[in-house]
Amino acid sequence: MVRVRFAPSPTGPLHIGGVRTALYNYLFARQQGGKMILRIEDTDQTRFVPGAEQYIIEALDWLGIKFDEGVHIGGPFGPYRQSDRKAMYRQYAEQLIRDGWAYYAFDKPETLEAKRKEYETQKKTFQYDCNTRSTMENSLSLGMEEAQRRIDAGDPYVVRFKFPDNIDITVHDLIRGDVTMNSRLLDDKVLFKSDGMPTYHLANIVDDHTMEITHVIRGEEWLPSAPLHVMLYKAFGWEQTMPHFAHLPLLLKPEGNGKLSKRDGDRLGFPVFPLEWHDPKSGEVSSGYREQGYLPQAVVNMLALLGWHPGTDQEMMTMDELIKLFDISHISKNGAKFSLDKAQWFQHEYFQQLSDEEVARMLEKQVKDHGIETDHGYCVKVASMMKERITFPSELWDTCCYFFQAPTEYNEKDVAKRWTPDMHIHMQKVVDILNTVPFEHDAIHKALLDDYIAANGLNTGKVMNSLRIAVVGRTVGPDMITLILTIGKEETIRRVQKAIAKLKVEN
Ligand code: GLU
Repeated sequence: MVRVRFAPSPTGPLHIGGVRTALYNYLFARQQGGKMILRIEDTDQTRFVPGAEQYIIEALDWLGIKFDEGVHIGGPFGPYRQSDRKAMYRQYAEQLIRDGWAYYAFDKPETLEAKRKEYETQKKTFQYDCNTRSTMENSLSLGMEEAQRRIDAGDPYVVRFKFPDNIDITVHDLIRGDVTMNSRLLDDKVLFKSDGMPTYHLANIVDDHTMEITHVIRGEEWLPSAPLHVMLYKAFGWEQTMPHFAHLPLLLKPEGNGKLSKRDGDRLGFPVFPLEWHDPKSGEVSSGYREQGYLPQAVVNMLALLGWHPGTDQEMMTMDELIKLFDISHISKNGAKFSLDKAQWFQHEYFQQLSDEEVARMLEKQVKDHGIETDHGYCVKVASMMKERITFPSELWDTCCYFFQAPTEYNEKDVAKRWTPDMHIHMQKVVDILNTVPFEHDAIHKALLDDYIAANGLNTGKVMNSLRIAVVGRTVGPDMITLILTIGKEETIRRVQKAIAKLKVEN
């Protein structure tokens, strides 16, 4: 039975790179008929940010990434928040010490800092490891008895992992293949602190083991920690059930190299967070995909393809299709460049899949927010006509406002280009035609374009665009006669007469 977990630390809003990690875990779990777990890794209390956990839950829920067990829904392997599991970690740290895989260390922060400085002056880097640990204050150099005496006396301590000297540690990664590192390159990481809190490394391994996690799918930034994690499984005697690892490639800036950061988003105008985030400390607000009007399906589809491909040219995939097609062996080793164009392309495509009804509801609300009464049927008509021009819901009012109100001003450039001094005569003719011919497409088309414009050798573009200026305010919009039929005869005539009056005087 496949069991995967998404294990964020509640240190702020969830970056979209983290969302992608959650998504890949979800796709894999669903495809394998396995379970998806949400575990909150909050052992580092200094980085805890209030509201972050709730934000993560809300963001993933908005995107349709669902959990079978987790901090918000419980489950048979709970609790799912590490601070609520605090009591269970000490015994594991003690087991490692007993078995010779770890030791107590009493070095004060000042001592460690002085060591670092000392090494720096020799152009070397200090590492707490098999070469230096005998020179430091720990249960190996002091002896266990002295160590116990200090602990009993209340001296602060940490528990460090004791890497064996000069062994090669291999991590089998489902994306990268075998990654091997020598233990001499690794430092004796802190696993546990005297305040009773484990560090990320210990808690992560104990939890993955006790929660029976089968696959660890996480960001590439954790690859350097993986050899320690593999060694911890060995040290605990849990090698047989050690999860498979898959380290996902980084999400890169749209141009140049490097990790996609919040600053890139601010600079280039796209969110790097799924939902808007209000920083509780600084009060700073960061934009979110949801608030910018992105559809969750668009964000999911875009993120799925940042680092993975289905092996075909197919780009549009629903969550169900993604679940079917997802394959860890098709995840790229290389970083994936974020593209705003692509994000907007997906958004546009998914917006087109909304029904006219759904778009009409958004439009209706915006119209009413502008203090204009309208009816739903009319909004559906406008929505069906205008949807293809829309990418974001926020564009609806600007793009469609002339269906609901007469223009209050006329675009100067358009007027200068199209509205010749004789134009009021032609516009008066339009009014006459609308007043006399049946109010339907073919009749208007024939009377206006054939019997008047063509028969009199007039410039179709000039006349029709002037009519557009009168009705819309500028030379944009759908087919002119369809537009007239939609807004109605009386309203069209009113607008044309208003334009005649205004533009005649002004020219
Ligand atoms: N708590 C870690 C993070 O915030 C999880 C790393 C892992 O998945 O092992 O990314």
